[in-house]
Amino acid sequence: SKFKGKNTFTLYEDRMEEKLSQHLLIEKHLRFALNHDEFELFYQPQIETQSLKVIGVEALIRWNSKDLGFVPPDMFISIAEESGQILAIGDWVIQAAIKQLLAWQNTDLANLQIAINISAQQLEQKNLADKLHEALQTAKLPSHLLEVELTERSIMSNAQSNIELFNDIRARGLSLSVDDFGTGYSSLSYLKRFPLNILKVDKSFVDGLPGDEDDVSISRSIIQLAHSLKMKVVAEGVETLEQFEFLREHECDMVQGYFFSKPINAQQFEAWYAQHHDN
Ligand code: C2E
Ligand code: CA
Ligand code: CA
Ligand code: CA
Repeated sequence: SKFKGKNTFTLYEDRMEEKLSQHLLIEKHLRFALNHDEFELFYQPQIETQSLKVIGVEALIRWNSKDLGFVPPDMFISIAEESGQILAIGDWVIQAAIKQLLAWQNTDLANLQIAINISAQQLEQKNLADKLHEALQTAKLPSHLLEVELTERSIMSNAQSNIELFNDIRARGLSLSVDDFGTGYSSLSYLKRFPLNILKVDKSFVDGLPGDEDDVSISRSIIQLAHSLKMKVVAEGVETLEQFEFLREHECDMVQGYFFSKPINAQQFEAWYAQHHDN
């Protein structure tokens, strides 16, 4: 009926407004966050499947806003991407990761790699390869300690022009990972031409292991594809022993997930690492 239609519309409009004002609120507080040290990097271990050695960590941003409380990255990264603030946040992430690598240099954690997440927009910065390389050089750190994670989507969205950038990044000694692999639309011919080091099997496929036939086929195919292109494979979102065992049997090179550790702050990670290596 007419009434129902109108009612529904109003409801819809209210939700739109709510969403918009939340969006604007986050955008406003993001500006404050950068200048007031409200971001922090958390770290999730990446573990070699055969040796069980921790070989690196993925850095994941956390925002504890003075006014909004904890805001998860899934909520603010896309807003920062739309507003352009992701460039400044991305720079902060690069610097924070470098600081962490430096802090670990004279410790047992000196050889750990840090993987940082880079948004599509950051790839459009003409100087990204130089920026990463300069940050490492200034800190006198070997480049292989920093790894760049890019989603399959952002890699493929500008494939032709990304080839040159990726060659530059690799030429400077950093490694490149494809995040969320299997959820975008990869062109296999590009995948072959890109100088990539790692494919990360998306959590949505790991979720169904080892019971779901489709997820089993997809995971196995991704592992085989990666290996035939001389790349390593990381499975993300590993939550159970059964998933881990499946992945080990199928020669997935590395794993990451709550089964081993949630992302935790640097201090917690150092304690976790010490314990992991004691036994
Ligand atoms: P992502 O890069 O795919 O990161 C993996 C997400 O899965 C992380 O969520 C991580 O905490 C979560 N995760 C890891 N293991 C498990 C598991 O076993 N079970 C479950 N349920 N979840 C697991 P988080 O930290 O909330 O980050 C969400 C997304 O936000 C990231 O997805 C990434 O796209 C983005 N993001 C996070 N930090 C950054 C950053 O510094 N820069 C950029 N550009 N994006 C970031
Ligand atoms: Ca990632
Ligand atoms: Ca991912
Ligand atoms: Ca994701």
